[in-house]
Amino acid sequence: MVEEKKKGVLDWYFKTNLLARILIGLILGAIVGIILGFFPSSVKPFVDNSKFFGDLFIRLLKMIVVPVVLFSLVAGAASIAPSRLGRVGVKILVYYLLTSAFAVLIGLIFANIFQPGAGFNVVGDAAIKGKEATAPTLVQILLNIVPTNPFESLMKGDVLPIIFFAVVFGIGLSYIKDSKQQALAKSGTVLLDGVNAAAETMYKVVRGIMQYAPIGVFVLIAQVFAQQGPKAIGPLLMVTLAVYVALIVHLVVTYGGLLSVYKLGFWKFLKGANEAMITAFVSRSSSATLPVTMRCSEENLGIPRSISSFTLPLGATINMDGTAIYLGVCAMFIGFATNQPLTINQQLTVIITATLASIGTAGVPGAGAIMLLMVLESIGLKVTEGSAVAAAYAMILGIDALLDMGRTSLNVTGDMVGSAIVAKTEKELDMAKWK
Ligand code: ASP
Repeated sequence: MVEEKKKGVLDWYFKTNLLARILIGLILGAIVGIILGFFPSSVKPFVDNSKFFGDLFIRLLKMIVVPVVLFSLVAGAASIAPSRLGRVGVKILVYYLLTSAFAVLIGLIFANIFQPGAGFNVVGDAAIKGKEATAPTLVQILLNIVPTNPFESLMKGDVLPIIFFAVVFGIGLSYIKDSKQQALAKSGTVLLDGVNAAAETMYKVVRGIMQYAPIGVFVLIAQVFAQQGPKAIGPLLMVTLAVYVALIVHLVVTYGGLLSVYKLGFWKFLKGANEAMITAFVSRSSSATLPVTMRCSEENLGIPRSISSFTLPLGATINMDGTAIYLGVCAMFIGFATNQPLTINQQLTVIITATLASIGTAGVPGAGAIMLLMVLESIGLKVTEGSAVAAAYAMILGIDALLDMGRTSLNVTGDMVGSAIVAKTEKELDMAKWK
């Protein structure tokens, strides 16, 4: 009898639409988290006991990031002519840069409208420690893209050097498989087939992992709300509101607009992309979401692997429109909250530094908060020990998880929009998926 009942639940679980299950997990998680938040003594035991189930989801996703990037990119680079790879690269870089700068602008506009933190008068507190922002130089950033040891990069999961090596390897492989020496050409083809099969296998694994997503989502969201929820209600509501309104406007106006310029339906896009958007929302990591992003792009949006395998890992590493918005709004918040609202000149500086900082932000939870230090530094708001700026910064840190969910989701969405547009301009987009 018990056996039968169990089977029924499992049956229901696997037969229900995945998105519906993930949404149920999300909503239940939020409700449970908010309720727990009202019983502070229950929060720690809950977080400690549920840690395993949330972390398991993140670890499963992270497990496949490196193999997915490596295999898809080698396969992608080997099947695209080097000159076309260059063209795709330039297009996507221009797109990534312009949309990020535009995102900061939108963030600043809404921060000016909502004026989060105005009239707060935050004062310094010696207990709050300042942090040093150490920004690497541009030369160093560029040099670091070239791995000194690709195997070390693979082991450490450094995405940019892996991209570089995989592209180089893929281009090499494309020459080998077209070699005039027949034996060489044959082994090249065999190797490429193997790499393609490995990439396919990884996508299959992603699909399996997503079956666990609803449970992972439930736990992760409950934890965030239990720890941050009550704190977020109140003075920081405005900053949260400003960030989310700006995120939504960027989604609808910028992405919706760009897609329609290229005659691609916004709803169709959302329908195809939502799994990746939700995974990013709960994992708070573009990198961890990458396998889901790549699968959605290929299977639902019809973006060919030759393009997505290059543009998506790159986007997950350097294109962070959500983070750009967050940086703009939070810089404004800290200015308002410490009674030194940003001047127009400072805001113009923020557009430049926040765009660059978003490029430098790692696709992991909370990375944007570190880059905020760099942006603040650039406009003379130093986060020194005990200063008012440090206190206001600490307030942002308190709700960072809530802001991180939205911004990461937009970060990932931007990568998919850009990839779809580039694929469309290359006449490579499978339009049957957009019907
Ligand atoms: N969590 C973000 C991401 O992975 C980065 C950030 O903290 O802004 O895209």
